[in-house]
Amino acid sequence: MSEHWKIPASRALRADGLRVADIDTSAKPGFHGRKKDGEQLLSERSKVLAALQEKLYANGRSGDNRSVLLVLQGMDTAGKGGIVRHVIGSVDPQGVDHAAFGIPTAKEKRHHFLWRIRKALPRGGQLGVFDRSHYEDVLVVRVHGLVPEAIWEQRYAEINDFEQELTESGTTLVKVAMFVSLDEQKKRLRERLERPDKYWKFSPGDIDERAYWPAYQQAYQDLLDRTSTGHAPWYVLPADAKWYSRLAVTELLIEALEKLDLNWPPANFDPAAELRRLDTA
Ligand code: AMP
Ligand code: MG
Repeated sequence: MSEHWKIPASRALRADGLRVADIDTSAKPGFHGRKKDGEQLLSERSKVLAALQEKLYANGRSGDNRSVLLVLQGMDTAGKGGIVRHVIGSVDPQGVDHAAFGIPTAKEKRHHFLWRIRKALPRGGQLGVFDRSHYEDVLVVRVHGLVPEAIWEQRYAEINDFEQELTESGTTLVKVAMFVSLDEQKKRLRERLERPDKYWKFSPGDIDERAYWPAYQQAYQDLLDRTSTGHAPWYVLPADAKWYSRLAVTELLIEALEKLDLNWPPANFDPAAELRRLDTA
């Protein structure tokens, strides 16, 4: 932590009891400083994150089965892709298991909703990233009634069981729900329509989804109330300021990795003997 964080990001962003309707999407919980302080700090903390991730990867190479999985949820334009590019982009790609979840394919639809998720879980030593996740199955699926209520209703419990199983088998979950305001989303969608280099991020359906904003808010509320657990808590991230959201996720990942208390894996050879051999090789 630095002087700019008065409390750890994990404490500042905990979802407990929070009302989605009350989220100030421009707030910077826990952080005291200006944008330039945040950007400066991000460049320093990215190096800390990269060093910790290298240790996780090294341990994985030596058989440690532990992993960290960052789960990113948020409405269109919330900045999920920016987190992947700018936060995860600062670590060694060899140690990253990235997966993005879109509309299920015909094959995926024939399986249980967790089928495609299980296939994408990080291997030991990896930093996994889910850009959208199994939570879409209680968000877009619920909001648009893509399955009957009796089906999505039971998914909250299924997700909690699944995540408990995951944490017990050595995966630390870092679940981040990103929130932008309806106005900020409009600004970002406009930019996607005005800049040819951003067209690729736009889908006409993104505009239609805006009409469902209240239904999404309710779905997010239930998601936080029902799936923020002791073993896998949700963090609620105000995301109007991109520099803040990137810094905050960096801090959450650093905290999660520090908790693993990683050391460099010991040599499975005798370094002194190998050095002597090298001298005469
Ligand atoms: P993007 O993240 O912009 O590539 O968009 C992916 C789209 O896939 C979003 O509109 C999601 O709501 C949608 N999506 C993701 N998972 C599911 C799911 N399980 N069922 C239906 N739509 C989904
Ligand atoms: Mg999109």
